[in-house]
Amino acid sequence: MEHLDHTVIVGGGIAGLTLAITLAHCGLRSTVLETQQAPKEEGAGIQLGPNATRILRELSILDTLNTSAITPESIIVADARSNHTISRLPLGSWMVRRYGAPYIVAHRADLQSALLQHAKAHAKIDLRFGSKLRSINHEQEHSESQDSTLKFILNDGHIVSTPIMVGADGIWSTVRSAFKINSSKFTYSGMTAARAVINFNNLPKKLQHCVTHVWLAPDAHIVMYPIRRNLDVALVVVTPAPQPEQGWGIDIDKKEILTTFKSIHHDVSAVLQQTKHWKQWALFDPEPLPSWSEKQMVLIGDAAHPILPFMAQGGAMAIEDGYVLGHLISEIGLNTSKIFSTFETIRRDRVTRMQDVSRKNGNIYHLGDLMAKSRNMVLRLIPPSLLMQQYSWIYNWRYYPN
Ligand SMILES: Cc1cc2nc3c(=O)[nH]c(=O)nc-3n(C[C@H](O)[C@H](O)[C@H](O)COP(=O)(O)OP(=O)(O)OC[C@H]3O[C@@H](n4cnc5c(N)ncnc54)[C@H](O)[C@@H]3O)c2cc1C
Repeated sequence: MEHLDHTVIVGGGIAGLTLAITLAHCGLRSTVLETQQAPKEEGAGIQLGPNATRILRELSILDTLNTSAITPESIIVADARSNHTISRLPLGSWMVRRYGAPYIVAHRADLQSALLQHAKAHAKIDLRFGSKLRSINHEQEHSESQDSTLKFILNDGHIVSTPIMVGADGIWSTVRSAFKINSSKFTYSGMTAARAVINFNNLPKKLQHCVTHVWLAPDAHIVMYPIRRNLDVALVVVTPAPQPEQGWGIDIDKKEILTTFKSIHHDVSAVLQQTKHWKQWALFDPEPLPSWSEKQMVLIGDAAHPILPFMAQGGAMAIEDGYVLGHLISEIGLNTSKIFSTFETIRRDRVTRMQDVSRKNGNIYHLGDLMAKSRNMVLRLIPPSLLMQQYSWIYNWRYYPN
């Protein structure tokens, strides 16, 4: 069968690199255009469920990541004010037994480095750092034919032609903005996430465990997990806030975080006091795009479907997208519209469900006093393994390439 032998991928993040590596595994070439010069994502961790680690293992990336990643034993959900445990959800060996792959936590820069290391090792992948897609020329792109060539312009003025371009360029995708039908509204959720990495040994002794902590408060929550073999700890603090100025990962003053959490338990407060270096992400909850593809362009990962981070699954969806699309490009051959429509058929329902569940989970996390009491009572009554099993549709997901 003839293949689209060369795919241009805009964005060398989680989705873009997973796609490039999958294509290389299938014997296909790709060029990855990445704005940044080197992996960044400082000050942030990432949790990856078995649905994502299974793919990383399939692509031989998991072992590399596991040199620094951690498999927490459980998620302790607690009240931020009393630090009383509400539920202790099983991870660790329970996850491996049930879903055949681990639930891990890692520094984002380590995930990015592991992906890059594997991408660099493949002769089929041409990585171009410091290469930003500036615009897509609509005139040149306009063509009725199925296999015409798409032309676009890079920041250095270079014009690149390709029969298939994948927008893996994140929530503020330039590729998406070139779509004629791009009517998705990017509504600010009213919440921001502040992220930081602190030293594990500086935690209060009673919190120095290999577990993920989630502390719930009205309208806010805190997530904490050890990374880098228990040397560091990743923190995420979600609070309500007026829409911040444009920016992604911008510096934020510790005082702003502490004001939201005036009445929290002293151990939890001690954690938040550990560092001045916080970065802030405004959280957006966009309406689904009517379509993820147009002509020879297709979107994957956050470019197609940003997800509120309350199920910790946006990156996992980016990994799944890259893996599925890579296999479809290899399996379907030259017909881009068939590749794109099959991709959307496989992915859209799952991703939309994930967006819904994430939104609902955020609402449950942030319930006010009275409702929070009922929530905590219910959570205490349900056996933790039963609570986790409701997410089997997430963690059990598999794609079987033809
Ligand atoms: C607070 C928070 C916590 C989260 N926690 C988790 C978690 O625990 N687990 C999880 O699975 N997910 C989590 N997520 C979601 C996850 O971060 C995203 O879903 C994931 O990063 C999406 O990957 P991506 O490759 O689609 O986009 P990105 O990671 O944004 O990558 C896009 C890449 O494209 C590049 N780029 C952008 N524009 C251009 C251009 N014009 N030309 C060339 N290159 C370009 C960027 O530099 C970047 O490298 C969290 C998100 C937030 C905000």
